[in-house]
Amino acid sequence: MQFTPLEDIPKIRESLRNVFHSGKTKPVAFRQEKLKQMGYLVQENKQALLDALKSDLGRPYLESDVLELVPTVNDIKYTHDNVHKWARSESAPFQFASSSMRPKVMKEPKGTVLAIIPYNYPLFLSFTPLMAAIAAGNTVLLKPSELAPATSQLLAELIPKYLGDDIVRVVLGAVEETTKLLELQWDHIAYTGSQRVARIVSAAAAKHLIPVTLELGGKNPVIIDPKSDLRLAARRIWWGKLVNAGQICVSPDYVLVPREVQDQLITEINLVHSEFFPEGPAESDSFGRIATTNHTQRIAGLIKETKGDIIIGGDVNLGKRYVAPTLVSNPSAEEPLMQEEIFGPVLPVVPVENVDEAIAFVNARQHPLVLYVFSQDSSFKAKVAAQTQSGAFAANELLLHVAAYGLPFGGTGPSGSGQVRGKYGFDTFTHLRGCIDQPGWIDTALLWRRYPPYNTWNQRV
Ligand code: NAD
Repeated sequence: MQFTPLEDIPKIRESLRNVFHSGKTKPVAFRQEKLKQMGYLVQENKQALLDALKSDLGRPYLESDVLELVPTVNDIKYTHDNVHKWARSESAPFQFASSSMRPKVMKEPKGTVLAIIPYNYPLFLSFTPLMAAIAAGNTVLLKPSELAPATSQLLAELIPKYLGDDIVRVVLGAVEETTKLLELQWDHIAYTGSQRVARIVSAAAAKHLIPVTLELGGKNPVIIDPKSDLRLAARRIWWGKLVNAGQICVSPDYVLVPREVQDQLITEINLVHSEFFPEGPAESDSFGRIATTNHTQRIAGLIKETKGDIIIGGDVNLGKRYVAPTLVSNPSAEEPLMQEEIFGPVLPVVPVENVDEAIAFVNARQHPLVLYVFSQDSSFKAKVAAQTQSGAFAANELLLHVAAYGLPFGGTGPSGSGQVRGKYGFDTFTHLRGCIDQPGWIDTALLWRRYPPYNTWNQRV
């Protein structure tokens, strides 16, 4: 992958700003046309995109199709079909005293948006802020991840072909290129990635007072009700953990299981594991790889250092960037496995006495991006929801809350702030401009009292 020359970066930003100021991106019909082109881009290049994702992530075609291409096209269609409603100006609620000014809220694009993207869902996560920012009438600089080189390169080729070379520009690069981008003034920065880099992005944005949206990660807990269907929980949790080899911001990170059913849950996961991979995961076409050797090494370190019992897997092949699906029971709460976001196919199972201990465990840590619960008991689910905080809350299902039509997606606190998806994403990239238009006659009728010289009889009190 050829990186964008550093000296070109300020010129690219300048040209995006000039295009924005030309007013070209403002008509809603123009935005809809670009959204349509985004849809064609994905649909007409399906095989090339699947191949690129396979090359970057060793990901099975079916997984990429169902969890990356299909949601991207669905979101584009949803945005295309609704943007005319979202972009409409709104009248302020009627109040007699201000009604002469006809107050209304104009939905205006913020300007030129910088979108920085991680490697794990390089297509979906590029298009999510892109479609919302274009729908809102902005121009966009997209910086995809250097760790997904095949997909990033393909996007850099396809985007100008389908969207033209003026309203969206792709900069290819890594830390140096992103650092250069972050030295510049933007109207909004949408960052998706790790908490570590989010701190760098936020500090750089603060220098220019740029508003930032952060879509981050963290450790997503699963809380188990001892009376829940453990077979169902095991199947969904193990699937949710192993999709994209665990490299998903909403992957279950660890399971809090009541001690009395811990062995039963582990038995069920073992059964599910042999059903999923009868020939073993290393030979299976249904299990992906880790994107880089560095990440493979990092995850291998977590496994090596664990004080827990390795129940399933544990083996790593660095050269093949393979980490076996790994189940760890009884890790210590202090070890790196229970401190860092795992972002790989390793699942710690932590015993607790009861739901109160599980809730206290979650609340003693950072607010997660999503909290999962398995229970058929509505009061159990309500108690967990009411006594915890998280970006999203999902009962009896893994990952699929991301596919639920129309829901906001985002973290809270250290797992992120703001949203870049759907209508909520449109709002993120939109400035709500309060506008009035006052007629002249109001001075004669009422407002002449405001003018000096003030004297006692024209003052209200
Ligand atoms: P990352 O933070 O390492 O990289 C993300 C982007 O930041 C890349 O484009 C990269 O080039 C850039 N970058 C990296 N180091 C930088 C630096 N020092 N200065 C400036 N820019 C830099 O993240 P990643 O490893 O690609 O992705 C994994 C992380 O992303 C996980 O923490 C995961 O939870 C999170 N994530 C969150 C969401 C979400 O929607 N909440 C979605 C996917 C991934």
